[in-house]
Amino acid sequence: MVRRAQAVTPLSREIARRIRSAGPLPVAEYMALALTDPEHGYYTTRDPLGAAGDFVTAPEISQMFGEMIGAWCAVAWQYAGAPHRIALVELGPGRGTLMADMLRAAAALPPFRAALDIHLVETSPALRAAQRAALGGATAAWHEAPETLPPGPMLLVANEFFDALPIRQYQRTGGAWRERLVGLDESSGALRFALASAPAAEAAGFPPALAAAPEGAIVERCPAAEAVIHDIAARIARDGGAALIVDYGPMETAPGDSFQAVKAHGYADALAAPGEADLTAHVDFAGLAARARAAGAAAFGPVPQGAFLKRLGIARRLEKLCAGAEPAQADGLRAGYDRLIAEDGMGTLFKALGIAHASLGTPAGFEE
Ligand code: SAH
Repeated sequence: MVRRAQAVTPLSREIARRIRSAGPLPVAEYMALALTDPEHGYYTTRDPLGAAGDFVTAPEISQMFGEMIGAWCAVAWQYAGAPHRIALVELGPGRGTLMADMLRAAAALPPFRAALDIHLVETSPALRAAQRAALGGATAAWHEAPETLPPGPMLLVANEFFDALPIRQYQRTGGAWRERLVGLDESSGALRFALASAPAAEAAGFPPALAAAPEGAIVERCPAAEAVIHDIAARIARDGGAALIVDYGPMETAPGDSFQAVKAHGYADALAAPGEADLTAHVDFAGLAARARAAGAAAFGPVPQGAFLKRLGIARRLEKLCAGAEPAQADGLRAGYDRLIAEDGMGTLFKALGIAHASLGTPAGFEE
């Protein structure tokens, strides 16, 4: 196999400097630097979305995605007893398209729209500016992290946020789990994967589905995602509301190396260009659902995105939009619909996980 040469980026120089002075860094530390370093991080420095960027997300494909999620929130608000104030929170709102589409859908139910206080959790200054523009005049508050969200009932949504949180990786060698690190190749000076020499003490807490993996296997843990889910679920258990997490990953917790870079709509080497490619990993839905339950909330799913959107009535929404559209517009709407629900694509790859206060019952789209 021919390995593509690594690009020297401002961040790869900085990472190499750190490795030379303090030794190899855990994959999670590398991922956090590459994505959210305040100076050179991938998300800090650009808007990566859209045809001219590196990847396209569901809200950027079709307005119907945000409209269905807006309707989901309206139903959850009603199940919660229609409180006269509720926080509508989005984690990692990208260009703000999902929030703008949700708010347009919410406007169809004026008492719901009037109850909403909008909160956006976003680290990227570039994307915060895009979000402000997308929201027009709507009032919103921005946060660096979920910890500063105000107390009180909330409806929270996150699309393709959890896959960007830093993962730790471990490889089973010689009968023990060792953490996977990013170090330097001695001859070329390029970044390369390495393993910690000492076994990882935290492996004692691996769930059975990971702990049983054979020699050579790689497993992933995402302490950052677990902490965020714990915080959200504990708030929901205390103050009421619900959360909807849409992302990609398997139905069940499983071993495997899902760490990957995405650049210009294709896969790239995760170590090739830190700060200039998106880095992602699969989301462990079953693990996050277990965390949410442990924090006192109810958890539902995951349900494949296609099935979830159909249960929410996306086909009816498509017909309604097409009925009032020019033929070319209707073709665009149908193409977007097909992509969101595709059995051999986003419709199965992506999944929805629901979290709710125990008194809410089963949120829309998660019925058996
Ligand atoms: N939800 C959007 C964008 C997904 S890209 C969409 O579906 O189009 C990931 C988003 O999460 C970006 O807005 C990125 O800046 C943000 N993000 C990534 N890591 C983050 C972190 N640790 N804290 C807060 N926001 C983060």
